[in-house]
Amino acid sequence: MTTLRCSDSPMEAPGKPSAVYTTDLGTRYLRAPGVQMLARPAFAPRGLEHFLSGFDAAAEMSASLSDPDALPGGTALCKAAGQLCYMSFGPRRTPNAEAERYFANIIASGHGSVLEHAVYSFLIYGVSRSLTHELVRHRAGFAFSQVSQRYVSGAVLRFVERPEFVDDPPLHEAFVRRIDAIAAQYSAMQRDLGEMQKHGDSVLAGQTGTERRKRVQQAARALLPNETEAPIIVSGNVRAWRHFIEARGNSHADIEIRVLASIVLSCLRRAEPILFGDYEETELSDGTVSITTVHRKV
Ligand SMILES: Cc1cc2nc3c(=O)[nH]c(=O)nc-3n(C[C@H](O)[C@H](O)[C@H](O)COP(=O)(O)OP(=O)(O)OC[C@H]3O[C@@H](n4cnc5c(N)ncnc54)[C@H](O)[C@@H]3O)c2cc1C
Repeated sequence: MTTLRCSDSPMEAPGKPSAVYTTDLGTRYLRAPGVQMLARPAFAPRGLEHFLSGFDAAAEMSASLSDPDALPGGTALCKAAGQLCYMSFGPRRTPNAEAERYFANIIASGHGSVLEHAVYSFLIYGVSRSLTHELVRHRAGFAFSQVSQRYVSGAVLRFVERPEFVDDPPLHEAFVRRIDAIAAQYSAMQRDLGEMQKHGDSVLAGQTGTERRKRVQQAARALLPNETEAPIIVSGNVRAWRHFIEARGNSHADIEIRVLASIVLSCLRRAEPILFGDYEETELSDGTVSITTVHRKV
């Protein structure tokens, strides 16, 4: 099975790096998604103290503040949100030690809004423009910041080799020839457009240096293929990530985004085993996995 597991990086956040390869002519490419969690919730339970102290002492609302079992940040935050719904912070609340049962109920009953409080941000690279075109179709609960092909130059141009090509020498060689040719054509197109701009072409004219550069890049990018790398930072809440994992980890999804879904699930599970504990992965004949849960779309 392809290795889809993430590990803790030196930054102490789950991630799975991806190697960069270079063709003989110097064109850079990657063969798998690189995924690095950049941010996750840090729950501050003491923040509840003043609020909980304002109720009848007999209710012992502050009992939850001395719960001896710590939970990961997102689980703790979502649990506090769920507890607030019923003001169950006293001795009869579900203790942290039983958080797994607590969230099994939340997830099975479809009380998914509780899961929207916890947001996780990932840097994702080594993915193609066709993958990110599918990724950004997910609207609810997500934020995206993607490399602008109008702003950046050929200096950061990289490509992504599809899994189907990697172990097939003719397909791999064709890929290498193709990306070397595209990198050269892109560079020539930038140069030609830059010359036209210098000679006063009105379509390419701009007031500032940035504007002039964008005029050139936005035209030159027209020849870039779907296999161009498109790095992106994605932030999403637990409910949104769960929906993404279910839709894109499905056996009907494209293999590239299915691999990404599996790595993201692995990272999220490492950070929050309880919130993502209901997923099952089944090995497929192509060496990848499909992801399923009985609790879709909470
Ligand atoms: C295997 C597969 C094949 C696909 N093929 C195609 C294709 O051929 N062509 C194509 O165009 N797309 C295709 N898609 C993309 C798909 O149609 C969705 O756009 C994408 O998966 C995002 O899903 P979503 O809208 O459920 O997610 P999100 O946008 O994240 O929304 C999450 C949920 O919020 C609710 N929601 C969000 N926005 C609204 C709204 N405006 N109104 C009401 N409810 C809302 C819905 O319940 C939705 O499921 C495909 C997706 C998959 C997984």
